[in-house]
Amino acid sequence: MELDDALGLIAEVPDFPEPGVLFRDLSPLFADAGAFKTVTDALASTLDPSVDALAGVEARGFLLAAAVGYARGLGVVLIRKPGKLPQVAGRVDYALEYGTATVELPSGVVRPGQRIAVLDDVLATGGTVAATGKLLEDAGAVVDSVSVVLELAALGGREVLGNRKIHALRTC
Ligand code: AMP
Repeated sequence: MELDDALGLIAEVPDFPEPGVLFRDLSPLFADAGAFKTVTDALASTLDPSVDALAGVEARGFLLAAAVGYARGLGVVLIRKPGKLPQVAGRVDYALEYGTATVELPSGVVRPGQRIAVLDDVLATGGTVAATGKLLEDAGAVVDSVSVVLELAALGGREVLGNRKIHALRTC
């Protein structure tokens, strides 16, 4: 499947999870074998060969990081919502487009100096990826880059992330 066709499966849902937010729902893309493969391959091709691990943000980032990690022979660091991990190496609270959130890093999974690419479905305000980058860097890793399926440019995530290398399969 062509990338444009795969990305065309993303549903736009107005006023979810609250009024004024246009939610990009990737569920139809994940459910379509051809689209999932195309997007996985496209994300895999954004990675520099020096990357030696991926970080996936719960929950849709897990799916993308797992598929890309398998394709590229890389392990996945799970960036989790609070209350899920028995052993927490670090925690960062941040503001979302809607509400607030927290991300946590499991203990003992990041090696100092490891070059990690962060994967997620949507880059909106950049808060999630910024918090993830801080978690990883506090643990001694190097954040190589950020790869997302969709970048919502109007929300300014790229500016929030400063000089991080960002790959978006589509910017809208
Ligand atoms: P942000 O921290 O604002 O960049 O938001 C990114 C996270 O929230 C991602 O993990 C997305 O899954 C989710 N998200 C934020 N805004 C949207 C949106 N408009 N549509 C779909 N997902 C979104």
